[in-house]
Amino acid sequence: MRKKMVAGNWKMNLSLEEAMTLSGELIEKLDHHRRDGSPGKENKLPDVVLFPPFIYLTRIREFFPDTKGVAVGAQNCHHEESGAYTGEVSAPMLSSAGATHVLIGHSERRAQFGEDDQLLARKASRALKNGLTTLFCCGEKLPERESEQHFDVVEKQLQSGVFWMKEEQLSHAVIAYKPVWAIGTGKTASPAQAQEMHLFIRRLVEKTYGKAAAGNIRILYGGSCNANNAGELFAQADVDGGLIGGASLKPRDFFQIILAAAS
Ligand code: PEP
Repeated sequence: MRKKMVAGNWKMNLSLEEAMTLSGELIEKLDHHRRDGSPGKENKLPDVVLFPPFIYLTRIREFFPDTKGVAVGAQNCHHEESGAYTGEVSAPMLSSAGATHVLIGHSERRAQFGEDDQLLARKASRALKNGLTTLFCCGEKLPERESEQHFDVVEKQLQSGVFWMKEEQLSHAVIAYKPVWAIGTGKTASPAQAQEMHLFIRRLVEKTYGKAAAGNIRILYGGSCNANNAGELFAQADVDGGLIGGASLKPRDFFQIILAAAS
């Protein structure tokens, strides 16, 4: 049985003070939920991961000690272990700063920083070598969906970005389907569209790694997921939670999304 995951991608938003306030409000809501719940209720919450900007990682990590059930990850990492890469942050640095997860292949990095499939595979490999759970993002642009190439696009992204992994590595990976036309646009994939693509992805995993791996891998949906639509999206058989952008900056909304993934 796959445990759902809800991840918040803060992108390049929030001052440190705002980030701490948001984290504090989130802790309060989670604690309150645990306190007033029936025994065992805590176990029903999904895994929660926050992706703050690099510079806040250690502070946010300290805010959420292990018992709080919230992990912290980075929005990116460099593909090399260390060296003369001014301004970059490596996977070992992330691990040493308390990050346990990393996003690889977000469409904003593909589009704005020219990150291609080959580079993303190198980043994912580096992240896994350093013990970071890797959330690999894939998804088509609007013209690709309109011309019905969306399955081909996603398959190609996964072939080069994920399907080189050994099965053991895959067990430390999460796939996030994030149709580019739905990111930050307020246009969400319908639950049926999300389910169709998630099932397609799971079948690709099955073809490459077999039934058990396909049954175990978590496939998150991302793209204008919010407190109103999360319940219906997460109710789809192959949607294992969400990677949330805008709504993760609002503690009330993000908490509602976490609850929508509770079972
Ligand atoms: C994201 O970019 O990670 C994302 C899903 O953004 P939004 O939820 O704002 O569409």
